[in-house]
Amino acid sequence: MSAIERESAHTSGLYQKRDLVIVRGRDATLWDADGREYIDCVGGQGIASLGHGNTAVADAIAAQARTLASATELFYNDRRAELYDALARILPPSLDRFFLCNSGTEAVEGALKFAKAATKRSGVVETMRGFHGKTMGSLAATWGPEYRELFGPFVPGYSHVPFNKPEALDAAITTDTAAFIVELVQGEGGVRPATQEFIAESARLCRERGALLVIDEVQTGFARTGTMFALEQYGVAPDILCLAKAIAGGMPMGAIAFSRAVGELPKRSHSTTFGGNPLACAAAVASIAEMVRLDLPAKARERGAQLMAGLSSISSPKVREVRGLGLLVGIELKEQAGPTMKALQDAGVLVLGAGPTVVRYLPPLVISAQQIDRVVEATRKALS
Ligand SMILES: *Cc1c(COP(=O)(O)O)cnc(C)c1O
Repeated sequence: MSAIERESAHTSGLYQKRDLVIVRGRDATLWDADGREYIDCVGGQGIASLGHGNTAVADAIAAQARTLASATELFYNDRRAELYDALARILPPSLDRFFLCNSGTEAVEGALKFAKAATKRSGVVETMRGFHGKTMGSLAATWGPEYRELFGPFVPGYSHVPFNKPEALDAAITTDTAAFIVELVQGEGGVRPATQEFIAESARLCRERGALLVIDEVQTGFARTGTMFALEQYGVAPDILCLAKAIAGGMPMGAIAFSRAVGELPKRSHSTTFGGNPLACAAAVASIAEMVRLDLPAKARERGAQLMAGLSSISSPKVREVRGLGLLVGIELKEQAGPTMKALQDAGVLVLGAGPTVVRYLPPLVISAQQIDRVVEATRKALS
């Protein structure tokens, strides 16, 4: 029996799957079970920024697995201490405390709990088309009706404001607001960069009204947008920053970085058993070192500019808009994105959707210039 038949016999059925068995990867190239080669513009949905099969990360994981895989936060640990140092070196100096967890949604859950604990308020403001994860607390902040439909009632006190409408913030962020949470580029919501004015106005109102600014860089963090964190391009330091996806080179990990505005958190009011385990920490330490050594922010800027220019040069009546930041790029079509994604797959290029009409490119940041050229040409053909 094939892997497809074996998986299908037991799958939850929750995932919309493609008829492809991916078995191996190297940098930005993937191979299926039949040995067919693909250029990877899915990038593990934003996890695989360092590319597949990075040896430094693989060696760090193997060595740590042999030394010590688990040491919960009942204890101190050398790898965890190393990771805190590594994070502090690449983040704004005000974000100097960390909580380690295991996924993006868990980082958002914790961030919103920290904001409530710090402000003694319960209101949370988030944006339309925002995506913050699918567990109950994060789901309340996530916009997509298709994700929410079956799962109400939600945590009370949440309200969605229009994205990139600074004038709508004044009525929404009040003295009852614990947190305003926002992505700097909406990923799932269609690859939509926030405007400078929207972020500046939200930061100003949060400061004025004593609410905490929570930035969700789960997808944009770790070099994706051309700087180590997208917040550098917005000149903003949030009170709380949510991280995950690329943080540990493929190992499951999330993190919350937070400032002294959060104050003392009551002992044991939040925790997670896997959080800060040495295996994930070793992978993250090695990943961050590789991101710096390979200058992934520069690669994201250069290859991102090349991809944006290439896609923008496609003249097709099907294209509405090309937009993005760094190597987080989307083409919005005037039709459903599905057929174009399938045509690209047939041409050996794997891409993601971002809503029904957007084709999203989220390749490993180590993708080569030649591969970007091939992606652009395949897209040109698919849209002709
Ligand atoms: C992917 C994503 C999440 C959720 O991360 P999971 O690890 O899937 O829970 C949250 N926020 C943003 C911006 C994301 O892109």
